[in-house]
Amino acid sequence: MKNPRNFRPFDGTRRETTMSGWRGLQGAVYSLGLFLFLSLWVRPRLGLHLFWNVLIPVAPALFVLAPGVWRNICPMGTTSMLPRYLGFSRKRKISILWSKRLQFIGFILLIGMIPLRHVILDLSGPATAIALLSFAVIAVTGGLFFDWKSAWCSGLCPVQHVEKLYGGQPLFRTANAHCFSCVGCVRPCLDSVSTYRSQKAVRGASRAIEVWMTGGFVGYIWGWFHVPNFTGGETWFHLFLAYATPLGASLLSLAIYLATRRFLPEIRRDRLQALFSAAAIVCYYWYRVPALFGFGIFPADGMLADMSATFPSWFPLFSRLVTTSFFAYYFLRSNVERRSWSMRPTLAVSES
Ligand code: SF4
Repeated sequence: MKNPRNFRPFDGTRRETTMSGWRGLQGAVYSLGLFLFLSLWVRPRLGLHLFWNVLIPVAPALFVLAPGVWRNICPMGTTSMLPRYLGFSRKRKISILWSKRLQFIGFILLIGMIPLRHVILDLSGPATAIALLSFAVIAVTGGLFFDWKSAWCSGLCPVQHVEKLYGGQPLFRTANAHCFSCVGCVRPCLDSVSTYRSQKAVRGASRAIEVWMTGGFVGYIWGWFHVPNFTGGETWFHLFLAYATPLGASLLSLAIYLATRRFLPEIRRDRLQALFSAAAIVCYYWYRVPALFGFGIFPADGMLADMSATFPSWFPLFSRLVTTSFFAYYFLRSNVERRSWSMRPTLAVSES
């Protein structure tokens, strides 16, 4: 019989044969993460480029195509589980109520941190490093008390809300390269369920977050790209602009989403969610790819290499056609199969 909750454990023998590969990849990415972190301190220009103009632009596409890969190799996630790996964790399970509370804090961190990029984070290597270090301390502290991914990856991590928005239909599932066996530390386990949005547990504040992310995030992205980096001479008005523009635009797109839900009920809810998820990532790459090569609205902001005199003038249009066609097709194709991000490891305790 088909298991509707997708709790099929990953076969143990196959798991052992793939784990060594994942450990190698985790080690490599962790080393890169440490290099990047140190670069932010000692070579800020290089560190800022590597973090904001290489890693971050790649991440949304990875969340769409293979969120399980990112969940397996994210250095911050690995850091949060160091106490577990080293035998220091008290390995508590987290209640559904506290899981929701942590997710709400993570959501506030997400929408609170992104505008700070224009004011300080994109401009200062040490500031970005301090933000990462703060998250690492919080993640490790959570890992000291709670088991596996419950406190950080499925709790406080701000990025998980973007992963949930984009990662509903991954190309493939991966092995879960962290949890040795599943102890049911958090419910629902984001890594192991394929239908997160229809989980009965998604209620109240969690539902509000999901609705805001679906309807409001596209506007938030659009607004963010229409604010320049404030390089010097920042005032409270700049801080206001950095927050008000994306938040104002997010309210507008959220209103459009809610009005569509209300007045066009014949559009299936999951199709509407897919449409707005697609719109969010299309909007991101619409601005981000040209900006990487010097064709941005504010050319000096978020530029990896200035190719504006080398690339043809139609490059921005071309890149937008490619990214928009790809993500529109990917999200809106009809033969979509919803999968979990990774395969649940062998259960160590009963799920009932
Ligand atoms: S797979 Fe199991 S042990 Fe691992 S995070 Fe999910 S619920 Fe926790």
